[in-house]
Parts: sequence; C-alpha cells; structure tokens
Amino acid sequence: MVGQTLTSVAIIGGGPGGLGTAIALSQLPFLEVTLYEKHSESREAGAGISLSSNAWKVLDLLGASKGVKGGSKSNTHQRNAYTGKILSVVEHPENSAVDQRGAIRARRTRLQQALLAEVPKDIIKYSKKLVHLDDLSDRGVRLTFEDKTEVLADIVVGADGIHSVKHKLRFTGNTAFRVLVPKSRLNSLPEITSTTAWWWGKAGHVYFSDVDDETENNNPLFEITIRSYHEPEIPGKTVGWGIPAANEKVASRVTEFDRRVRDAVDTVEEGEWWEFAGFAGPRLDHITAWDKVALIGDASHPLSGAFGSGATFAMEDGWILARALELTHFTGRPLSDALEIFSQIRSPYYNRMYEHLDKVQEKLQKVQSESTNFDEFLETKIDSFLYEDKDFIYKNDISRVWDAYLEENEV
Ligand SMILES: Cc1cc2nc3c(=O)[nH]c(=O)nc-3n(C[C@H](O)[C@H](O)[C@H](O)COP(=O)(O)OP(=O)(O)OC[C@H]3O[C@@H](n4cnc5c(N)ncnc54)[C@H](O)[C@@H]3O)c2cc1C
Repeated sequence: MVGQTLTSVAIIGGGPGGLGTAIALSQLPFLEVTLYEKHSESREAGAGISLSSNAWKVLDLLGASKGVKGGSKSNTHQRNAYTGKILSVVEHPENSAVDQRGAIRARRTRLQQALLAEVPKDIIKYSKKLVHLDDLSDRGVRLTFEDKTEVLADIVVGADGIHSVKHKLRFTGNTAFRVLVPKSRLNSLPEITSTTAWWWGKAGHVYFSDVDDETENNNPLFEITIRSYHEPEIPGKTVGWGIPAANEKVASRVTEFDRRVRDAVDTVEEGEWWEFAGFAGPRLDHITAWDKVALIGDASHPLSGAFGSGATFAMEDGWILARALELTHFTGRPLSDALEIFSQIRSPYYNRMYEHLDKVQEKLQKVQSESTNFDEFLETKIDSFLYEDKDFIYKNDISRVWDAYLEENEV
C-alpha cells in the first residue's frame, strides 16, 4: 500500500466480538487495525459456551474454527428440579443436516484462544482502558485511555461488552454461579453426566453439560451452572463481572432441589465457584455514531445471555462490518456508508431477537397470572424455550445474509 493512506481502526475490547472483528478487518489491506483491551492479558471469565451452526459459519469465515472443540450430547433433558421428573427429551442426531459438527458446549477459553491465534499479534495493546471518546469531525475520533494517553482513529469499533462505556446498566437480580469440575468427580452420578440437562425450579435452575471433546481429552471437565433469579444486589460487588462465591452461598440456592442435583453441587470444592451478576442494558436505537463509531456484540445489544449465542452475534457483527467496509472502499463510497450498511443489516436482526424475547415473556406472564400450578408454568416455559422457532438464530449463515444484501441492493 505504498503511497496510499491507510484508514485507521481502533477496536475497543478483546472479547469474542473484538477478536473476531480484528481478524476480519486485518484481512483488509486498506485498514490499519489496533485493538485496545483494558486487561493486562487476554482472559475469558466464565465456564462453558454454547456454539451452534451459526457459530461454525462465522468461525469458518474467520478461519478460527479448527481449534474449537467441546462436548456434544446425543440428547438434552428438561427436568423438574424438585422431583427430577423428565419433562422433555430432545434427541440430537449425530450428523445434523445443517452442520455435521452440530451444537457443542466448549470451554470459553477454547474459543478465546482459537480467535487469538488468528489475530495478528502486534495489533493488540493491553492495559488500555478507554475512558473517553471525542468526535473530531473530519479528523476522526480521539480516544483517551485511563493511563492518560490519547490516539486518533478514523473508525472506532466499540466491542467493550455489556459494561460498555456507553451503557447505563441495571442489575437484573438474575445471577449465574458457574464452575468447571473434573468430570471424574461426578462418576457416582451417571444421571447427571450422561445428558445435557436443565433442572428447573421456581427461583432458579441448574444446568449440567460437558465442555470437552472426550476423544481429545482424557481428563474432561464438566460444567455446572446455577441460575438464581432473585438475588439481592451487593453494592460495589455485584457490579463486577465474576467474583468468587462460597460453597455455602451456592448450596443454599438449591436446598430444595432433587438429591442428585445437590450431590453434584457438593462435589465442588471451596473456592471453585464464580458468581456472575446479570445486568441488562438499554435496547439502543442507534448502533453507530458520528459516522465513525460502530457498536458490536454486547456493547450494542446486551442480551444478558438470552439465546446463549451472544459471542456468535458479536463475531457476526464484526464480519459484516468488514464486508461493508470492503464494499464501500472498492466502490469509492465514504466510510459513513459502511457503517450505515452495517446497521441496516444488523439492527433488524437484533430487533427480531427482542421481539422473540418479548413474546415469550408475555406468554409466561399470562400463564403465571392464570394459574399457580408450577408444572403448567414449567410446561409453557419449556415449550417456549425449546420449540419457539429460533432457526433464524442458530441456523443463521452470515455469508448468506451478506449475499442477500448484495442481491437486494443490486451490488
Ligand atoms: C450467564 C451467561 C451465559 C452466556 N452463555 C453464552 C453461550 O452459551 N454462548 C454464547 O455465545 N454467549 C453466551 N453468553 C453471552 C456472551 O458471553 C456475550 O454475548 C459475549 O461474550 C459478547 O462478546 P463481546 O466481545 O461483545 O463482549 P465481552 O465478551 O464482554 O468482551 C468485552 C471486552 O472488552 C473489554 N473492555 C471492556 N471495557 C473496556 C474499556 N473501557 N476499554 C478497553 N477494553 C474494555 C473487556 O475486558 C472484554 O475483554 C452468555 C452470557 C451470560 C451472562
């Protein structure tokens, strides 16, 4: 690119969204990409992460799918947490018609490492916490970091997650206690380890899943996540993302649950549980600003874990942004057009998710107001959870979305 001025892009945040965007944008020779991450190293808190066909599509496009391995089960159970009664069994044929790799649950670190491996190393700057942005009109954006340094960029990608500098968050009361334990610890509980399962209670549920591909790992880990729906806020504490939780506290959330659940919870050693307070952010009307800033992933649509596919949404955002920048560059259009295209494609998609969530919520509230019968409520909940059409999410093929855009717009 000798003699040509590069367009500088600053990506804020090194989560799945920021890393995916860094990969996609680094492949465009007319861009100069830098990623700023507030932590001193790449890290991923949490336990497991679900990846479906939509994830494989975008990971393939990013060239990052090969390192991502995880556990997959031939069936998924939904149970009443108190009685253990199996309310639903969904079989997952080994070779899904959509993608032979099917849905997996992987250690979060596996995804993070697979993405990191594809990011050009010298473009990540650690210990760089963004504290302020200024619009300098046609000179771009000025970024100010906590260490008082400043840089200018032509484009800023806000991939700083749900705790984005742009959000006012609200504690939802819905907290997740998460842990990965050696599966061997649960050898005496085959009913727990042989399926992926949700055990539903009134004030919370427990989720059990493999997170490792046992053909490549002979010391596999197993995930236990307890979701507690009505936690009090601990001022100054729950504002963090991931704090250790004492065994006594976690066990107290499942005291009335089936013995097998409690036994599984008892296998966790003191100091192993992590507590993740759930926050909700605003449904933003605009995911771009100043013709130079694009928000992606949780920074644009903090879904608080709904759909269990947020990391994929964030990577898809980054890939579409790259396509939009590529298109406008090679057709001689301004950068602002790229941001507009990005928003035009992604905003309606997120709106569809919100509509889905609202519809389910409405249905559940209706059942709750009409009946106090827990089994009836659970039936509706499981029905909505499993059978409301979510193919637009899990089978989304982001490259087809782009092709459709090109076709519709006769590009
Ligand atoms: C309980 C729970 C379960 C979930 N389960 C799943 C699942 O199974 N599958 C799935 O796909 N998704 C799941 N999600 C959602 C998923 O975790 C998020 O959607 C995903 O991590 C979003 O990626 P991101 O890159 O947008 O943000 P994040 O992963 O939050 O990354 C943001 C990055 O920005 C950095 N950062 C923040 N502020 C600044 C700053 N000011 N300056 C510089 N850097 C900054 C952070 O350190 C971090 O590295 C779940 C979420 C929750 C809460």
